[in-house]
Amino acid sequence: MIMAKDKLIGVDLGGTTIKFAILTDKGEVQQKWSIQTNILEDGKHIVPDIIDSINHHLNIYQLSRERIIGIGMGTPGTVDRVAGAVKGGYNLGWANEQDVKGPIEDGTGFPLTIDNDANVAALGEAWKGAGNNDDDVSFITLGTGVGGGLVANGQLIHGVAGAGGEVGHIIVEPNGYECTCGNNGCLEQYASATGVVHLAQDFAEQYVGDSKLKKMINDGDEVTSKIIFDLAKEGDYLANETVDKLAYYLGFAAAAISNILNPSAIVIGGGVAAAGEFLRSRVEKNWQIFAFPTVRTSTKVKLAELGNDAGVIGAASLAK
Ligand SMILES: [Zn+2]
Repeated sequence: MIMAKDKLIGVDLGGTTIKFAILTDKGEVQQKWSIQTNILEDGKHIVPDIIDSINHHLNIYQLSRERIIGIGMGTPGTVDRVAGAVKGGYNLGWANEQDVKGPIEDGTGFPLTIDNDANVAALGEAWKGAGNNDDDVSFITLGTGVGGGLVANGQLIHGVAGAGGEVGHIIVEPNGYECTCGNNGCLEQYASATGVVHLAQDFAEQYVGDSKLKKMINDGDEVTSKIIFDLAKEGDYLANETVDKLAYYLGFAAAAISNILNPSAIVIGGGVAAAGEFLRSRVEKNWQIFAFPTVRTSTKVKLAELGNDAGVIGAASLAK
């Protein structure tokens, strides 16, 4: 008996954990699991661990291998999608270019499609999250860095060298904070977890009024983006000034993206976006100022909906 192929496998490779999921071809998650990422010995165990974990779990779930359409995978670093290789996966211990596609296809017997982790998270949100399966969805993720992915006409934008969709390096403040990329004033330097803290520290120097945040900074206490948002919600003046400035930069960058692509939604996700509606509404207010009139009435500023599952779901969609 020949069984229909109706299952996708998604793999979200990160520096600390590797997340896996088995989904239906409609994107319903049926099984999820994760393993630790073993970055020892230049990350040479990572690919074999992925192969073993997939084979092992197909046995546990007694899922016929004939039903698997393929594997999709998101990874840090720069991805050669045709060769299926990853460059610059430094947080995986991969100092040199790492072949991923060949060994995983050989080890599992399934075809593998691979892309950058921020891109697959964008695909996940576009398919099953805030994007409502629309063909035009833009995604910005705020974490230790600022990443993103742009889906236009149902396709991810990669550009000629894979740098398309690097929304964290939109310059929002000419001659602003120095960025790891070598430019100055990139969004990442203001809207990442450390960027928000940097902003707060600079504001604290100029502010002479009463503020718990200012006192914490002056006392040398550890300040995180979460503390800044929590204090802002409590009404702390300096914390609110910081969040307002962050929302200004994000609104500016989100409008720039929206004005080019006119997506149905520009979706904001990642750890810093855990502040939720408190942040979204402020970003939207600034976005409205900079958005082109037709864009203002047709594009929506939304919060991500899938959380940590965006990666495996989007990765699985690559295999469709
Ligand atoms: Zn930059």
